[in-house]
Amino acid sequence: MASYRSVTVYCSSSNEIEESYFEAARTLGQLFARHHVQLVNGGGSVGLMGVMAREVHAREGRVVGVIPKRLKDIEGRAYDASDELILTETMRERKRIMFEMSDGYVALAGGYGTLEEFLEVLTLRKLGYHDRPIVLLNTNGFYDSLLSFFDSMTRKGFAHGDTKSYFDVVSRPEDVLPALGLGD
Ligand code: AMP
Repeated sequence: MASYRSVTVYCSSSNEIEESYFEAARTLGQLFARHHVQLVNGGGSVGLMGVMAREVHAREGRVVGVIPKRLKDIEGRAYDASDELILTETMRERKRIMFEMSDGYVALAGGYGTLEEFLEVLTLRKLGYHDRPIVLLNTNGFYDSLLSFFDSMTRKGFAHGDTKSYFDVVSRPEDVLPALGLGD
């Protein structure tokens, strides 16, 4: 069997977004499968999460979902086809497992959940808790205003050092794996 690296992808759970975001998630899913990169995600079947997981599977790749029991039971929205579905008691435990089992982290377009996950791995990297690569996929310039806000935080003295040096920003899914140092 091929050996897999693992990469955690944080992304939207919403289905009410433009098609181009789904397209980017599908393309990235194809690339994960082609380069034997195991997808670790929040275990949801909805939004970009579900689309990317299904695409990885359609190309015979591997998917590990990590989902709190409460989300799975109450919402019933887990991606049950995951090769491994890890059920956790809490959101924090879920984030810890997603963090610990990966060789790198990617954030696609998303909402509050995605932003929170991205900022956590970024803060941990900046504080020296890990040195794994982090990539922000800036589809359609989705994150331009966040990146400007980061500049503003730095200018006003709320952030120190070159925080942006701790992650890569790419606009095409094809550039994600090379930025992670995988599958170029
Ligand atoms: P959001 O960006 O607010 O849509 O939240 C998406 C992120 O939060 C994902 O990366 C997941 O880890 C987590 N998440 C939020 N909602 C769900 C859900 N229904 N099922 C699984 N994970 C979710």
